Amino acid sequence: EQAEAHPEAFTRYKPGQDESHLRELKLVTDLHTAILNNGLHMNYQPKLNSQTGELVQVEALVRWIHPELGFISPEEFIFLAEQSGQIHDLTAHILQRVASDARRWHEQGVDAGVAINLSAMDLTWPALIQHIGDTFEGWHHNLERVTLEVTESALMEDPEEAMATLNRLRELGVTLSVDDFGTGYSSLSQLRKLPVQELKIDKSFVLRLDTEPQDQLIVRSTIDMAHGLGLKVVAEGIENLEAWRLLQHWGCNLAQGFYLSRPVAPEDLPETARALADRREELTHTNPEYS
Ligand code: C2E
Ligand code: MG
Ligand code: MG
Ligand code: MG
Repeated sequence: EQAEAHPEAFTRYKPGQDESHLRELKLVTDLHTAILNNGLHMNYQPKLNSQTGELVQVEALVRWIHPELGFISPEEFIFLAEQSGQIHDLTAHILQRVASDARRWHEQGVDAGVAINLSAMDLTWPALIQHIGDTFEGWHHNLERVTLEVTESALMEDPEEAMATLNRLRELGVTLSVDDFGTGYSSLSQLRKLPVQELKIDKSFVLRLDTEPQDQLIVRSTIDMAHGLGLKVVAEGIENLEAWRLLQHWGCNLAQGFYLSRPVAPEDLPETARALADRREELTHTNPEYS
């Protein structure tokens, strides 16, 4: 999706675009420094069991506050990392950060698995499997509690190659999730062949679940289809009580969104976990409207 948004950003000069071109060149150079000098930071967004309200895992979301340019969206700099050959260094760095943050939470008594986003290019990176294996060697949980999220469109770029990589990742025992599901035009037959355990419904179908009957239909049928294929379903982008209630009612397995929790800094996770535990009763009490 990112490649389509900025076609050939580095290879073709377009008149009148020199300013954005300069910005990109600067970001590419500074990203290199940021990766080396801990200039990036991580945020983590909880995913809850929709039925019990328990915190199950947190998704790692990388952040970059540029010293002069301020907040740079991950979509922008991940695309630039891909284009400039830095994506694998970035992914390796993120894996290290996540593993070390997770170790600390474990010592603090927070029981949460982790989810990490992979870029499409990581699927053709020969050292990926080794990196994941090394990073989580001696991990305090079963490796099933490490989830790798790969977008549906990344999987569809080269389904055969993706399949080979996913199979090797599966041998490690990690959980594989199709991120942004519903936006990547995969067919059901392709999906059925992939060794994934989870579908993550794209937030564009969830954000307006409270008011859009078509989104309700799409989400509800996706949940049923996924369950029929033996997959778990995660919904992202839950922003209100109504969406949360509907997803619970439809048997969605995991839920994530600002209504439950924003992404937080690693040092704030223990506090966030406590606050979520305090909300469990409120989050799971049965709503008469749907029972
Ligand atoms: P994603 O993996 O689909 O992540 C979900 C995005 O939705 C995150 O945006 C998250 O902050 C946002 N979000 C979560 N709940 C809500 C909600 O209730 N409402 C709304 N409006 N948004 C919500 P973020 O952090 O800006 O990340 C955007 C994308 O950048 C991610 O989409 C992922 O594709 C990519 N990304 C982020 N971190 C990483 C990373 O460490 N590695 C890689 N390869 N990609 C990453
Ligand atoms: Mg994700
Ligand atoms: Mg997503
Ligand atoms: Mg996304």
